[in-house]
Amino acid sequence: MTEIFKGSFTQQEPIPEAGIDAALAVLRHGRLHRYNTIAEEISETALLEQEFAASVGAKYCLAVASGGYAMATALRAVGVKPGDPVLSNAFTLAPVPGAIAAVGGRPVFVGVTEALTIDLDDLAQKADAAKVLLLSHMRGHICDMDRLMQICDAAGITVIEDCAHTMGAAWNEVPSGRHGAVGCYSCQTYKHVNSGEGGFLVTDAAEIAARAVILSGSYMLFERHLAAPPKEAFEQIRYETPNISGRMDNLRAAILRPQVADLATQCARWNERYSCLEQGLRDTPGLTVIDRPEQETIVGSSIQFLLLDWPARDVRDVVARCAARGVELKWFGGAKPVGFTSRYDSWRYADTPAMPDTDRVLAGIVDMRVPLTFSLQDCALIARIIRAEVSAVFQDQSTAAE
Ligand SMILES: *Cc1c(COP(=O)(O)O)cnc(C)c1O
Repeated sequence: MTEIFKGSFTQQEPIPEAGIDAALAVLRHGRLHRYNTIAEEISETALLEQEFAASVGAKYCLAVASGGYAMATALRAVGVKPGDPVLSNAFTLAPVPGAIAAVGGRPVFVGVTEALTIDLDDLAQKADAAKVLLLSHMRGHICDMDRLMQICDAAGITVIEDCAHTMGAAWNEVPSGRHGAVGCYSCQTYKHVNSGEGGFLVTDAAEIAARAVILSGSYMLFERHLAAPPKEAFEQIRYETPNISGRMDNLRAAILRPQVADLATQCARWNERYSCLEQGLRDTPGLTVIDRPEQETIVGSSIQFLLLDWPARDVRDVVARCAARGVELKWFGGAKPVGFTSRYDSWRYADTPAMPDTDRVLAGIVDMRVPLTFSLQDCALIARIIRAEVSAVFQDQSTAAE
């Protein structure tokens, strides 16, 4: 009997009851704007920032409208100007080069390794090409952050971390987002906390934080923040910094606060699912599992494997055969961008020379979301399906080669 998976790859869990109650309270009093407070009231947004800052051990936190907005704001706040080059990953999602483009910057892409992390040799070579690196921990894979920071510190490069896939993850016990000057996170539905849209920016640098607060649209109400620098930090900055509105609102903040409090539990649940999938896929002929370094604390909200050096039509065949059995895989090797997957050469505004080593890895990356609505049994079944279909196509490949 051929097993078929019937679950949904895009179904989230409901918002926790505490979040629903808090959201209803905000709807009832009507003060949704973060600065719309009465008397001694502290807004949900200010509380959320304080709680998120504490959760990652950051001095300052700003909640904003999206992860993409957090990244663009971070780039502006560290001083990126129109025309400036900004280093970033060739393997990432479109909002990352998009944030660079949003500030008029010019993305300079750094390659990807078979570990799916930024190629640090390539980074070292390109280190004098830019003063800022927007580092994407794409699909949750964290590179050797100690070596990355050495390279960047030596070259005077400011690091902004895109932690859209690593909220709750760490390298050498330092939370993702806390190695560079600024960490950016997304609270969009497909990430680790869900308010539909939303994002955070964290930093220990008072000047960057103050600029970000003004940029986000605080007007002169920055004293109503609980995780912003003291008012002296705004003295000059408030005159020099434009308002580019992108605030978080109290309704989203109310939904998010219980999720931030619950993040560690949710991460552990993701990791149970991830390890079940990984075990099921290990030692499949032709398939390379991505081994995770021991310094990395992962959040397995998605899983990747490589069909390295496979002919494109065979990878397509695997994706189609798995889809026929209810398993949705995404392939980063397609010539045209599809759904969420696009590649550095799809972002033609950046005008990037070909990167053959990166192309080889991208051509082999197969990706799967792991929603928490999957049970461990679901994960075991999905792994059996992928294993069977990869093995079948690989078998034909070897037979054809004989
Ligand atoms: C989703 C995502 C973002 C941006 O998040 P939005 O909140 O959708 O703007 C940034 N980087 C990566 C890698 C992402 O997947």
